[in-house]
Amino acid sequence: MIYLDHNATSPVRLEVIDGLIPYFRDFSGNPSSVHGAGRGARKGLDEARRSVAKLVDVHASQVIFTSGGTEANNMALMGVASQFDFKGHIVTSSIEHPSVLQMCDLLESRGVAVTKIAVDSNGVVDLKALSAALTPETFLVSIMHANNETGVVQPVAEIAKICRSAKVLFHSDTVQSVAKLPLTLAGTGADMISISAHKFGGPKGVGALVVDNHLNLPGMLLGGGQERGRRAGTENIPGIVGFGIAADLVAAEQGELAGKLLALRNQLESKLSKALSELIVFGDKVERLPNTTAFAVSGLDGETLVMHMDMAGFAISAGSACGSGRTKASHVLVAMGYEGAVGQSAVRISLGRDSASEEVDLFVRAFVRTVKNLQKMSAPLAI
Ligand code: PLP
Repeated sequence: MIYLDHNATSPVRLEVIDGLIPYFRDFSGNPSSVHGAGRGARKGLDEARRSVAKLVDVHASQVIFTSGGTEANNMALMGVASQFDFKGHIVTSSIEHPSVLQMCDLLESRGVAVTKIAVDSNGVVDLKALSAALTPETFLVSIMHANNETGVVQPVAEIAKICRSAKVLFHSDTVQSVAKLPLTLAGTGADMISISAHKFGGPKGVGALVVDNHLNLPGMLLGGGQERGRRAGTENIPGIVGFGIAADLVAAEQGELAGKLLALRNQLESKLSKALSELIVFGDKVERLPNTTAFAVSGLDGETLVMHMDMAGFAISAGSACGSGRTKASHVLVAMGYEGAVGQSAVRISLGRDSASEEVDLFVRAFVRTVKNLQKMSAPLAI
């Protein structure tokens, strides 16, 4: 199997497995306990917090460990909205991850007004529409850094500037961009960013909300006062330790890695578009994550392509999903204007640090063969 679906999740790094196993195998106490076993766990927790903080250049006290990107996004939106008593206005975009969009729907049902900003055909948020959407009631803007489906990078520094001058808080879902692009909290200009460990070689089920020091977010999970009262519950020490190790590893590698991934993606896109003249690459006119490409061959079904590629030994994903017996383009592609046949045929390739040039060539050959076979099968019979 050649794995080309790193935006869905990435393989856990061996160094991460080696580093976290002692926290399962050898007795590790509760980090809130004062005895030696507890202090051992606390040491692992503190070291991991420093590593994650270093990756995005903040102080360790700014890192709130969560169960992943979903919880971090939920916490940012719910936390700020509750500080504003569920009154006022949130601005987000139409291409966010469901953990932002569905939380916006919930907040809307509790009385918060929500505006979803449109994107252009490249998938970039319309900054003029953003400025125009802000009202005196707006307390939060939540716009992702890089989109998980297309890899398109949003102009977060400009968004932050607009938010700052309107005195509005800015949260950015940086789950896909951390480790794929060098990124710091200050560099994004955001007040809060969300991170997920499993997107860059860490374990699943662990992540963080990184917050600016002036924010005093109320906890969503209440109880034993962990994470300085911002997220109660005994900490997932092995997961957090693994997150810290993954953060250290990518901090040392990320500049070099981005260059390698970009070269591989260029190789993939240029070979594919030479072989398939009808290929449409989403967002190819704007900045994208170096590892991500989403494309379509109109007329074919994205999920069918994914299944055929799976049988051929390649793990990729579709930009569409089958609902009520009909394939529908994802909300991201619909927002970019690809509601019909093009959106329905979209697939995504997301490369990782172990991806190799030979794998890209094997993929291109298998994909072109699959497309030609499917096109032959769906062509009307000549009578
Ligand atoms: N945000 C984005 C952009 C994502 O791609 C994902 C995961 O696919 C998430 C949030 C959710 O992260 P997690 O799987 O850690 O809950």
